[in-house]
Amino acid sequence: MNNKSYLIINSGSSSLKFCLFIGDKAQADLTGIAERLSTAQAEISWQYQGEKSQVSLGEADHALALKKLFSVLTELNLFDSLSAIGHRVVHGGEYFKESALITPSVLNKIEACSALAPLHNPAAIVGINAVAEQLPDIAQVAVFDTAFHQTMPEHSFLYGLPYELYESQGIRKYGFHGTSHQYVAGKAIEVLGLDKNNSGVITAHLGNGCSISAVQNGLSVDTSMGFTPLEGVMMGTRSGDIDPSIHQFLADKLNLSLKEITDMLNKRSGLLGLSGSSNDMRTLSAKAADGDKQAALAIEVFAYRLAKSIASMVVGLNRFDALVFTGGIGENSFLVRGKVINHLAVLGFELDQNLNNQGGDTFGIITTPDSRKAIIVQTQEEWVIAQDTIRLTAQA
Ligand code: ADP
Repeated sequence: MNNKSYLIINSGSSSLKFCLFIGDKAQADLTGIAERLSTAQAEISWQYQGEKSQVSLGEADHALALKKLFSVLTELNLFDSLSAIGHRVVHGGEYFKESALITPSVLNKIEACSALAPLHNPAAIVGINAVAEQLPDIAQVAVFDTAFHQTMPEHSFLYGLPYELYESQGIRKYGFHGTSHQYVAGKAIEVLGLDKNNSGVITAHLGNGCSISAVQNGLSVDTSMGFTPLEGVMMGTRSGDIDPSIHQFLADKLNLSLKEITDMLNKRSGLLGLSGSSNDMRTLSAKAADGDKQAALAIEVFAYRLAKSIASMVVGLNRFDALVFTGGIGENSFLVRGKVINHLAVLGFELDQNLNNQGGDTFGIITTPDSRKAIIVQTQEEWVIAQDTIRLTAQA
């Protein structure tokens, strides 16, 4: 039994989410978040053994929030067993095809990718440096959202743009949610008894952000998110794919700046934009059931665009064994799953209504015996980061 503990950190520009895994089990023992960092209302909250605690941090930044977290771990007698720290890093560019033990050269490369993820990578770097300052001897690991998709072939990651923009600016599809796609594809292959080396699955990670991925023999061969997480399927507040000429049209007609339009596409579109009321699928499903036509329309567009995108992903596969649903919507919304499967009838999918309503059979399967398989798999992103942290620090 491994009694060491591993802290997983997900730094955002004004927040720091964390969880602590003790030993080898997939369930985090302590979870929490430091929010509104670098404002006067900074606070940290955590949950341990069913008990929730919250402390105001004044004007704390990431470093002070970590200091408080380490003192909380000390008070709870959890600090001495702390063995390594894993960081979620959004962008690894073309440098990282897998997770990496953090060294000065790895940190330089993460920094070099900041131009590609200007909101996210600098936040991760702040977190990594703050840990290094306070606990200089602890091993740190970076786990990248993009790494899993580095196996995409050129014909799927290149855009139809002047090639020099790829060479000089790195304009290409990178893809995101890699840890989730990798984990749920692997789980589905295992649960369905597929031969990993001769398998094809499409994974649909549907949370606030949504993306799908074509996974051939356990490797990503295509994905819906692109240069940024804005591309692909419709999401909670992001539009997903649109005609790029809409930018110019809106700039001319409404006198909007590029930044205003990009903000609108990221923050006020998708489910929120179409429904006019919420980005939250649970709320929208309840509203639609109560007769709210805009909410119902938003769900219809979401499901149709998603199904269309899934169908197009099939092109990347040699065979198509199963469709995997995960994320808050994928795991919980029978409404969305049902609509998507019905749109995909032409690909041999047939929904088992009862199984779908009850969240799947014992394996998570929601289709009839004669259908191509669709299955629900709970994602475990933090646990994947913890496992890579354990593996890479054991080798160090
Ligand atoms: P994040 O990307 O922030 O991790 P989640 O994976 O938690 O997001 O997914 C959030 C989405 O899942 C929200 O749209 C939420 O309404 C939806 N969701 C969660 N539970 C349900 C449910 N029971 N029915 C429908 N949608 C749900």
